[in-house]
Amino acid sequence: MSTRIWLDPTASGGHRTARRIDVEPGRFFTRVTLDRDNYVYTARQQGRGAEAELRPGFADAVKKCVDAASDYLWVHGYAGGFVHSPGPGTISMSVPFPLADQAAEALRAAEMDGDLTGLEALTEAVTVPLDEWLQPGERQLRQGVDFTSAPSAFLQFLRARARARGLRLNGRAEPGAVWVHPTMPPEAAELRDRYPDRFGHYPDPALYAQPADDDGGPLRPYVGARSERPSRDATPVVFLQPQSASLSSEQCPCGFPGAETDDNNAGHLQGHMRWSTGVLIPRNLTWYGGHIAVVNATSPVGWRKLAYGCALLPRRENHYDFPSFAVGDGEPAEDNARAYLYRSGRRVVGFVSVFDTAHARWYPRPMETSEGVVQPTDGQLRPTVNVIFTAGIWRRRGVAQELVRAIATDADVAVSEVAWHTPFSDAGRGLATRMAPDGAWLA
Ligand SMILES: [Zn+2]
Repeated sequence: MSTRIWLDPTASGGHRTARRIDVEPGRFFTRVTLDRDNYVYTARQQGRGAEAELRPGFADAVKKCVDAASDYLWVHGYAGGFVHSPGPGTISMSVPFPLADQAAEALRAAEMDGDLTGLEALTEAVTVPLDEWLQPGERQLRQGVDFTSAPSAFLQFLRARARARGLRLNGRAEPGAVWVHPTMPPEAAELRDRYPDRFGHYPDPALYAQPADDDGGPLRPYVGARSERPSRDATPVVFLQPQSASLSSEQCPCGFPGAETDDNNAGHLQGHMRWSTGVLIPRNLTWYGGHIAVVNATSPVGWRKLAYGCALLPRRENHYDFPSFAVGDGEPAEDNARAYLYRSGRRVVGFVSVFDTAHARWYPRPMETSEGVVQPTDGQLRPTVNVIFTAGIWRRRGVAQELVRAIATDADVAVSEVAWHTPFSDAGRGLATRMAPDGAWLA
């Protein structure tokens, strides 16, 4: 059964601004979510944004805990993925059932008191002994003792974790157990040597040096250690760096931080897939007919969550610190905040968040809001493009223009009357220039 814990006294602003922790048991684990969306949003509206920042060290401590808990759940039978939003609006963790209360209390203490010891203790409780499992030498790990997932799934998990440490996991799954024999390939040792800043976390190659041959110990099953022979006379592959700075940077275009070097890139793979192909529409939402759905603050919660999921994509790509559409609590929004979702098949591939404002000012081309030049406002209420996003592989096909036209049609105004919230992203400026060639209303 789900439980909800309110963190702020409701007297000060009521539910609309209060922080809460939701504890939701699922089939494989319990999801514990600290929801501070409305709290942060309200604080920023009131110019108290700094107060609503996450406590120092909180985000790091949560990331460590989330990573450790994911490993734990995989080792103990869960085979799927995880969706965790990185905050500062929402912080969520998936933890084993018995640790749900501990996790809720750890989040509460970190949020309210800046006390991270609970998160650290939780991390310790769920950390699996990877160091031990990936030590040099050969060993058997037993199902029901060391792990509970299927041996083949466990072996796959170990391989991925070994790879992240520069190790090759020679291994074999058998009923009820896996055999492993981690070794370090010479390439990995060389990487560690040449690029200590990126590969310094690889273990000392000397530890993994092959012993001189069998010392007559007990016979062990062959675990598939590949012989060096097939590559003995091979010439090494040469690696080159691209010259363009934007290509050689570590940053993936989807905006996922540290994507290239992150050992645990499952999060990036999922995030990248959504960024490039769009957000899957949940089966329980029925999308009638047309390609564009309008979601506002009073829409059913499933739709508001879908719009929020879409808003996370431009947030990450453009490094905004806050998503442009909040799930909210179902109360109407004062500025008629809404989102238009563009669908292709079972995915939302275009998203725009919109609000109404009477404060837009007309700027002729090139639409610079240069300081000192204050244009007049006519006091007209206009729909205003806040953040607009198209999934990577759908770009340059007119999806964003279609969304802006839908905004205009919906508000019964000409496209040129739609206002744009500034500052522009590069793509946003290009779109506005194409759609409003003579100048535009900027808010
Ligand atoms: Zn990416």
